[in-house]
Amino acid sequence: MKKIIVTIDGWSSCGKSTLARQLAKSLGYVYIDSGAMYRAITLYFLRNDVDWRNTEETNQALQLITLQFQYSERSSQSEMILNDENVEYLIRDLVVAEKVSEVATVADVRSFAVAQQQQMGKGKGIVMDGRDIGTTVFPDAELKIFMTADIRTRVERRYKEMLIKNPNLSIEEVKHNLEMRDYIDSNREVSPLRMAEDAILLDNTNLSMEEQLDFALKLVAKKL
Ligand code: C5P
Repeated sequence: MKKIIVTIDGWSSCGKSTLARQLAKSLGYVYIDSGAMYRAITLYFLRNDVDWRNTEETNQALQLITLQFQYSERSSQSEMILNDENVEYLIRDLVVAEKVSEVATVADVRSFAVAQQQQMGKGKGIVMDGRDIGTTVFPDAELKIFMTADIRTRVERRYKEMLIKNPNLSIEEVKHNLEMRDYIDSNREVSPLRMAEDAILLDNTNLSMEEQLDFALKLVAKKL
């Protein structure tokens, strides 16, 4: 059976990873959360006091970073492993969310992550979500989806998700974080967040998870 590459890009907290994960499961494909890689790099930089504005320091640090995805029976999901440590939980913290977009502007950080992402897609049969997957990582992908949803919906979704781990969090902090990341992501010099010309727009503001999966599965069926 023919295998394709599906890319899902879009604004923060649009539900990209939910759709990507469900789509990969339905198709028997591998799901890769590229944002988790930028988050893990950011966690490493914060922990080790790496100044990502300093090129030499950044490149030295990147040489010491190994990123892997490992399937967890407990969560039934693949989780992020940073140098043999499972950091899946830690990388979702606001401390990381506050710095990740800044780290992701650094050209050397991006080439480090992109090279690994391209390697993962060599055999196709992959769904990858992020910001530059359809534009830079897999410009020749067979199916590209660009997701959006209105800001209120996105903030509410992310707030609910983060509240479990950060009980003191306010909805304003979440809104500020999303807007800040969207701004930095779409204004950076290297691979800014853009909808690829051949991407299909999916606004899921008023869609249920089943409806958006159905939409994506129909698009895949056309490509196979
Ligand atoms: O997808 P997630 O929200 O976890 O991504 C965290 C951050 O990582 C984004 O806000 C963005 O700054 C960066 N990112 C990126 N390119 C990607 C995926 C994520 O720059 N392909």
